[in-house]
Amino acid sequence: MSSTFAIVIHGGAGTISKKEMTDELEKAFLQGLTDAINAGYSVLEKGGTAIRAAQASVMSLEDNELFNAGKGSVFTRKGIHEMDAAIMDGKTLGAGAVAGVRNIRNPIELAAEVMLNSDHVLLSGEGANEFALYRKLKIEPTEYFFSKTRYDQWKEARDSEDYVLDHNHEKSKEKRIGTVGAVALDSEGNVAAATSTGGMTNKNFGRLGDTPVIGSGTYANNRTAAISCTGHGEMFIRAVAAYDVSCLMEYKGLSLHEAMDIVVNDKLVKLKGEGGIIGVDPKGNIAMLFNSEGMYRGARNNMGLNETAIYK
Ligand code: ASP
Repeated sequence: MSSTFAIVIHGGAGTISKKEMTDELEKAFLQGLTDAINAGYSVLEKGGTAIRAAQASVMSLEDNELFNAGKGSVFTRKGIHEMDAAIMDGKTLGAGAVAGVRNIRNPIELAAEVMLNSDHVLLSGEGANEFALYRKLKIEPTEYFFSKTRYDQWKEARDSEDYVLDHNHEKSKEKRIGTVGAVALDSEGNVAAATSTGGMTNKNFGRLGDTPVIGSGTYANNRTAAISCTGHGEMFIRAVAAYDVSCLMEYKGLSLHEAMDIVVNDKLVKLKGEGGIIGVDPKGNIAMLFNSEGMYRGARNNMGLNETAIYK
């Protein structure tokens, strides 16, 4: 039993570069983060579970078109939205994930359904969509997911030879990514992680990122911590980033911060994996590290911490 409870969130490492950020937009992003933190915090405050809190925060970010998940997801090369999400319970090691789903209002809710009401861990594409209908989840028309900003980014990426050759210049790379995630610790001492994304702008051929891959973009274990990642998914998959943080804690006895620092600032950097990771351990220690220019992020606990930030 722990007396501390906490919620930590991110809205992606693909932030708008500092020089392009306006006061108005910054305010809107910070408000979106605050709303998401409060959604998770209010679950915890009422004695709810870490898994429900992480899900509530992610759903709030999915419903906000500023972030690349749910409403406001990026466009694929075909000009559609294909979303990935995963959730994991550190108490039971139960996990659920969906990949390449379309028209699902809250992919994280579908991931939770997979965890709780199926015999599987990862469902993809049409099958996952069918399962959503069966579980009576909210389905939205394609227009619901549209955001002008994402559309313009897609057009730029689509027409850019840089992208086709996959030699991205800094500007377009920054804008092509984004994800949302939350990790929570409840008053019973259980941790949970949830991550949801539209993936990368202009992605092709059924590309899946790290988000739905348990151990890469999402992981939770009461023995170590709950982890949610954001960044260039291919490198996070190769680094098995979320599980590596957990392993460094479990097998080397490192603290959450020490373990995350090695993964974010050394291992991922060596792979040219730009991005960040958030985590919380069962004692209430929190870490939010990134090797990118910024990461939309925030944290709140019942010991007085309540903060949001974008850049270093
Ligand atoms: N990790 C996500 C992906 O590769 C993107 C991101 O976090 O920005 O799909």
